[in-house]
Amino acid sequence: MQPTLDFDFDSNHIWHPYTSMTRALPVYGVHSALGCELELVDGRKLVDGTSSWWACVHGYGHPDILSAMERQLHQLSHVMFGGITHSPAIELCQKLVAMTCEPLTKVFLCDSGSIAVEVAIKMAVQYWQGKIASNPQATQKQRILTVKKGYHGDTFAAMSVCDPEGGMHTMFGDAVTKQWFVDAPQTPFGEVLQVDDLSSMREMLAKHHQDIAAVIIEPIMQGAGGMRFYSADYLKGLRSLCDEFKVLLILDEIATGFGRTGKLFAYEHADITPDILCLGKALTGGYISLAATLCSDEVARGISQSPAGVFMHGPTFMGNPLACAAACASLDIINRCEWPTQVSAIEQQMREELKDAANIPSVKDVRVLGAVGVLEMHQSVNTAQLQQQFVDLGVWVRPFANLIYIMPPYTISTSQLSQLTSAMKQVAATIGAATSSEDSSTISHG
Ligand SMILES: *Cc1c(COP(=O)(O)O)cnc(C)c1O
Repeated sequence: MQPTLDFDFDSNHIWHPYTSMTRALPVYGVHSALGCELELVDGRKLVDGTSSWWACVHGYGHPDILSAMERQLHQLSHVMFGGITHSPAIELCQKLVAMTCEPLTKVFLCDSGSIAVEVAIKMAVQYWQGKIASNPQATQKQRILTVKKGYHGDTFAAMSVCDPEGGMHTMFGDAVTKQWFVDAPQTPFGEVLQVDDLSSMREMLAKHHQDIAAVIIEPIMQGAGGMRFYSADYLKGLRSLCDEFKVLLILDEIATGFGRTGKLFAYEHADITPDILCLGKALTGGYISLAATLCSDEVARGISQSPAGVFMHGPTFMGNPLACAAACASLDIINRCEWPTQVSAIEQQMREELKDAANIPSVKDVRVLGAVGVLEMHQSVNTAQLQQQFVDLGVWVRPFANLIYIMPPYTISTSQLSQLTSAMKQVAATIGAATSSEDSSTISHG
């Protein structure tokens, strides 16, 4: 038994993600974590089905990451990146350039996923400003086109490209830049593209390409916007459309990168390459915040021809050595290539164990891709209430909107995974087929 926490202070003074300061939701005190288990302050252990918001892919307390961080902590935990460089940053960027597709050779290190998206959008706009000499209309190219049901983060530019209905646009009104949206991809993963799936994208590009700097999309899996898996053909077609209409393609692999969908990067399913790539979440194995935005030589050259002549971004903690050291250690584990076997075993086990969830009346759809298992419910669920049920069953699963899903660490054992899938089914079975519950239609992975 661990000493208890000051939960009163927490609920009166500390904001948690997407919560109210006057109507605090329940929180669980975590004392420590090891492998795929969280230990609560009351001593209970929970099997983690979330990888701490999809980041902790190798499990907690991994000795390689811990020792890399410990070494780095004592040597140099932070130093400014303006006018200074260091080996953790160089080593990390070498790894990222080597692991990603050939055109991506330039790396911008930043603090979090949302910032990686901000950086990507700035890159796209600055790129076209650099093209004014060769194309006088390029200066107009400042808008971003995207698909509905997307999620790209919570800062303003990132918010502007999140799903316009489920996202936060309405709450912030005109403070959010108006971007262009077309329907979300409809063709499911693994299927041949439905004939008109890309037609709204084509129409929009044909009509407005003079004003569009880039298309941004989460490849293959739309995550916090609905856990939707779509056809690789869609991405292939989108790449061609971007080329045809001279618009950059930004892929947001913050959730999908580093093996989650069964490929190292989800764009590999479609055999395409982006102009700009956003990475985050699992980049450090989930040990500390770090993200990266990669771009091609061509994009970097365009930016340097822009009136500014430089790329205008430079966070205080850019290239933080401690975070880079964690990321290097995590990528070394990824590069040992145990993940493809782990992820495909997880995929197969989830397919088998979640299959019969389709018979539960409250369940609308069951889908699995890589190490992502989803029960889509007919109705939005009450997160706090279901959370309690999951904790009582000894697992950590955090549903949102109408989704009960898991994205476990790749190192999860067969029996731990069974505990998760059986808890998902048990909890889903307690939900009435047609009873409406507290609405949580707002997109959040909270
Ligand atoms: C989580 C996420 C982000 C935002 O990352 P943060 O680190 O939370 O800012 C952006 N894009 C996608 C696809 C994500 O899943």
